[in-house]
Amino acid sequence: MGIIQPATFDAPLPPLTDGNYPCLILNADYQPLNYFPLSLWSWQDAVKAVFLDRVHIVDQYSQIVRSAKLELPLPSVVALKDYIPQNRTPAFTRFNLFLRDGFSCVYCSSPDELTFDHVIPRRQGGKTSWKNIVAACSKCNLKKGGRAPGEAGMQLNQTPKRPSVFELQAQGRRFPPGYLHESWFDYLYWDVELQA
Ligand SMILES: [Zn+2]
Repeated sequence: MGIIQPATFDAPLPPLTDGNYPCLILNADYQPLNYFPLSLWSWQDAVKAVFLDRVHIVDQYSQIVRSAKLELPLPSVVALKDYIPQNRTPAFTRFNLFLRDGFSCVYCSSPDELTFDHVIPRRQGGKTSWKNIVAACSKCNLKKGGRAPGEAGMQLNQTPKRPSVFELQAQGRRFPPGYLHESWFDYLYWDVELQA
């Protein structure tokens, strides 16, 4: 996370090494395939996809790759030719759970020392599921001490449920990565940018 710092073309071109020249991947509808983590390919994968004719080149870097047979500006944004449906169910992972809860404690909204809490404790039959696991700071976790929220006099600021992919993507827009190439801006809509 951090301040959005677009790369500038005035600086000397970074070397063609791994990790440089990441390429933003858009779905066939020109929406980012994924916001968080942002869908990116290495320049090697992007070049491969161009030659396999799987993508349209939308924008490019000024760096050029050359070999005996080809000369190609590195793509900075590509769009898939085949649409990938986005209605799949999000996986129940630690990351997605933190993302659903906005990387903050559901009891006090603190973003610090996040842990997981069983809303209904396991020993009272509470399950490890979207509906019963929430992000909680370690202070609140300690205070709750294996009791149900009511017993501990604590309240959740939202009712935990399984999020849709769209809800997670909307959350992801609030947490931009530290690096964004300027050619990506037309395809990204970060909520934090709108609030600034
Ligand atoms: Zn808390």
